[in-house]
Amino acid sequence: MTERTFSILKPDATKRNLTGKINAVIEESGLRIVAQRRIKMTQEQAEDFYDVHRERPFYGALVEFMTSAPVVVQVLEGPKAVAKYRDVMGATNPEQADAGTIRKLFALSVGENSVHGSDSVDNAKIEIAQFFDAEDIVG
Ligand code: GDP
Repeated sequence: MTERTFSILKPDATKRNLTGKINAVIEESGLRIVAQRRIKMTQEQAEDFYDVHRERPFYGALVEFMTSAPVVVQVLEGPKAVAKYRDVMGATNPEQADAGTIRKLFALSVGENSVHGSDSVDNAKIEIAQFFDAEDIVG
């Protein structure tokens, strides 16, 4: 069934001018980019977005990284979009990512891993609402 998921092209990707190349992988997978905006995340946005990781040792580094350069926030749509995009992204650590995935192709490390994608339909709804108004998503 058709779903929506939330995606971020992270600072390591925008800094290396990889927005187009990553979008090509997304589109070739069959997912449709139905909303997209380039922003500089604020400290507060990054802290709220990664609140579930607040107690993890890498939380500070993660927030610092996500605010270090612009990101591209996106809404992707398609059949089973949440699981589909997780497959297209590949494992969190690029060394463990399958061939052809975005992280295998482009990621630098477990921290600078080029993309975020929601891990459930419920979280996708919450994350989309953090960055997009409903009328700005054109499916
Ligand atoms: P994801 O759902 O595959 O993005 O992975 P997680 O939800 O487990 O982690 C969220 C993000 O935190 C990852 O995408 C990484 O950017 C970052 N992260 C996770 N583990 C580590 C780590 O061990 N070190 C650092 N520096 N960052 C990490």
